[in-house]
Amino acid sequence: MKILVIEDSRFLRTALERALANAGHEATSIADGREAFMAAHRGLPALILPDMMLSGLDGTGVLKELKQNASTPHIPVSVLTGLSQKNETKLRKGGAAAYIEKSPLEFVKNAETLFHAIASMLGTGEVLAKPEHQSLSTADAETATTETRVGNPVGASMMILLAEDSALYRHLITGHLAEWGFDCICVKDGLQAWDVLAKPDAPRLALLDWVLPGVDGVELCRRLRLRPETEPYTYTILLTAKSQKQEMLEAMEAGADDFLAKPFDPPELKARLLVGKRIVELQQKLMSANGALHYAASHDFLTKLWNRAAIITFLQRELARALREGLALGVILVDVDHFKKVNDELGHETGDYALQEIAQRFSSSLREYDGVGRYGGEEFLLVMPGCDRETTVRRANVIRELISSQPIRTPLRTTTVTVSMGVAVAEPTSNSEALLRRADLALYQAKRNGRNRVEETTTATAQGS
Ligand code: GH3
Ligand code: MG
Ligand code: MG
Ligand code: MG
Repeated sequence: MKILVIEDSRFLRTALERALANAGHEATSIADGREAFMAAHRGLPALILPDMMLSGLDGTGVLKELKQNASTPHIPVSVLTGLSQKNETKLRKGGAAAYIEKSPLEFVKNAETLFHAIASMLGTGEVLAKPEHQSLSTADAETATTETRVGNPVGASMMILLAEDSALYRHLITGHLAEWGFDCICVKDGLQAWDVLAKPDAPRLALLDWVLPGVDGVELCRRLRLRPETEPYTYTILLTAKSQKQEMLEAMEAGADDFLAKPFDPPELKARLLVGKRIVELQQKLMSANGALHYAASHDFLTKLWNRAAIITFLQRELARALREGLALGVILVDVDHFKKVNDELGHETGDYALQEIAQRFSSSLREYDGVGRYGGEEFLLVMPGCDRETTVRRANVIRELISSQPIRTPLRTTTVTVSMGVAVAEPTSNSEALLRRADLALYQAKRNGRNRVEETTTATAQGS
């Protein structure tokens, strides 16, 4: 099924794409909500999964735009949200078919939750079903110059690349693979095999004949092992008529994971494929867990913004770049006004919701190369590369008004909050601590001068105070 993912976190985008592709879907993804309509109009996906919190145009905005345009209103949209269920009514009113809760760790670790959510949303079990591959007729197998795919209608399977120049073995092996529940991409020479392996959604299990036209199996293994370790692992089994120990060693040294001499017993091939499948699956789980851990370590759980360490790292990198290249850089330190009162009067849960809503409004007003993070309890830090004093103050005021002018609706109460902001801009001798100190001083001024306002501090005023 064709699925369009709209997600601004690159990590989640890749994880989702991979999870959907592994389940046999054709997933494409974009980062910017504003491109949603064009992408949907062009690709006409069967399902659209926009993130709730997006810069540019958020999940609700995307929904509205898709429902309003003539070519896209029929496409089911399921909004991915890190926020709690309270959004459901709003999303349903906007025409969302469903929403899918997105707790970063669980969601990515356990892709099945996602598939079940999609399947139940569409009211079918279809989502977990296999893609329809071109089926391989005997004539095709003998004459095709490009790859052929053999589909298998049942069973949870894994895609295997078979590179084999002998028509007899190709026929034999594809037959077994289908019988054992594997899907297979079948090619006749090493160059085609390398093309397939170079694709982002390439099979992770490869059965490679040693002697192949173009590039041989050992060389394919060698090339695979030159790839960076961050890429998904491809498990390789070399097939060959050679059986001497010395040659086996050569194949293993080149990076093959296993070795099978022809002619082989089918059960032996099956056993080895099952080992390979297990290793590939383990490695995929490990990669998702790593990614999820990395996400959790750099993001704030409540607001899904960067956490303090991540936004400071971003600031340091951008400041170094600004000083090196002589570019401007503005920072805005934000503190919610009288937030203790919001908690005291409306409850902590409403307070949490308000923080999420504020975070979302920040994200919606930033450009792709800006950064925003939760700096402390109800404090946030915005980093704006390329923005001088005047621009930073102007943008700060726009964001301040965006927060104060529209009430925050929560399931219990509607409330209005304001924020105070301290602006500081990089100066030739700046370091990040000094810059943050100046922003903090400015923020203090904003509080003293009555709140719901923007103040700025320059080095001179900072030294004078
Ligand atoms: P001021 O205008 O001077 O900033 O007043 P304030 O009440 O916002 O300042 P104060 O620092 O006294 O209080 C901050 C409050 O923010 C207290 C704390 O309970 C609340 N807070 C911090 N983190 C969270 C959170 O994650 N959720 C909720 N609901 N409240 C939080
Ligand atoms: Mg051969
Ligand atoms: Mg505070
Ligand atoms: Mg405060």
